[in-house]
Amino acid sequence: MKRDSHFKDVDSMIKALKPGYPVYCLRPDELKKNAKMFLDNFPGRVMYAVKCNPHLSVLKAFYEAGIRHFDTASLAEIATIRENFHDADCYFMHPVKARSAILSADKVYRVDHYVIDHEAELKKIVDVTGGGNGQVVIVRLATPQYDAAFALSEKFGATPDEAVELLKKVVAEGCQTGLAFHVGSQCRDKQAYATAMEVVKDVIERAGVNLHYLDCGGGFPAHYVEDQPEPLMSYFQTIKEEVSKLPLRGDCTLMCEPGRALVASGVSLVVQVHLRKENSIYINDGVYHSLSETMTANVKMPMRVVRLDGTVSDKKAPFKIFGPTCDCTDVLPYEVMLPDDVQEGDWIEIGQCGAYSNSMSTKFNGFFPETYVTVDAPPLTPDALDSDMSTSVKGKKKKIAATPAEGEDEKHAA
Ligand SMILES: *Cc1c(COP(=O)(O)O)cnc(C)c1O
Repeated sequence: MKRDSHFKDVDSMIKALKPGYPVYCLRPDELKKNAKMFLDNFPGRVMYAVKCNPHLSVLKAFYEAGIRHFDTASLAEIATIRENFHDADCYFMHPVKARSAILSADKVYRVDHYVIDHEAELKKIVDVTGGGNGQVVIVRLATPQYDAAFALSEKFGATPDEAVELLKKVVAEGCQTGLAFHVGSQCRDKQAYATAMEVVKDVIERAGVNLHYLDCGGGFPAHYVEDQPEPLMSYFQTIKEEVSKLPLRGDCTLMCEPGRALVASGVSLVVQVHLRKENSIYINDGVYHSLSETMTANVKMPMRVVRLDGTVSDKKAPFKIFGPTCDCTDVLPYEVMLPDDVQEGDWIEIGQCGAYSNSMSTKFNGFFPETYVTVDAPPLTPDALDSDMSTSVKGKKKKIAATPAEGEDEKHAA
């Protein structure tokens, strides 16, 4: 079949392809809208964290919306950006890099922004690149944990004391410097950024060096079922207020590097039901493929059932959802409310699937989603389930709402 085919909406795609394999439905307009939201409102430079979804159509949508800066963590990501977007900048934001990766980044791809959180990493960069003027080495700080799906500061980040020393050492090598942090992905509390800025303030005052960059990372939350974050605008407002209290020089560049908040709503996933046993269904995607974040990040994506011939029941029941592999752990960690007559051959559109879905997919057991199409229709958000409860296929009206079994079912009920 043709890849990256274009359809008016998801139901037209299902009608045309009747796919027995998972299909990622990209919404370039939604991706661009998300990018413009950041570009217009974040009070600084906006990078996209490529690892979140490196599909070329996603990158192209962001580039077309005006994103020119990319947070990259591997040579493969750097190569993708350099080869496709000649005027875009790559920032090598992984605190642990192979010397050979630094060498290629420097000599082949002309990357000059690097992150460290330990002096041994600074030594590697200076050994390989020579350091000096024009080289930017940003120090990653560990920050206090707030309500977020992941605790990145458990893996990366210097303590304030270490950061003070590192900043001085970077400057002593003749490089420009800065501070970076990441409050953890799907951070549901904007106070995390404010608290991180207090750590930044302490470090700047003690180090007594001029910062060229302040990078407040990713972590900006997306909207999932029963997980509606405060508007991004209020996050930006908090960051703006806190930055204004910092002793920064006039030419210090404030940056952010969101992944999830830019891409989550821009992609949905269409799966098919391959077997039903009582109140369990077996679908063709799961936690080893696009849906690992149901387990690792504890997020719940909105779902709706699409049936081409005939209507689905108005009544809903809780279903256990198994993925395609032979592994018993390939099951969603919660039950989902679906029409009680959901059956083999039905499709399920799963919304908010842009972040850490295809990028995390394995090829375990010979299954791997690899089909991408673009659609014009607006995204399937948890809100879309509230306002657009039915869809029309072959001119018939269908009930399609589905939400996780526990919690606020009434809010979404048909
Ligand atoms: C993963 C990552 C990001 C993106 O994080 P989101 O929570 O998806 O916004 C940004 N910066 C770094 C260094 C990362 O590791």
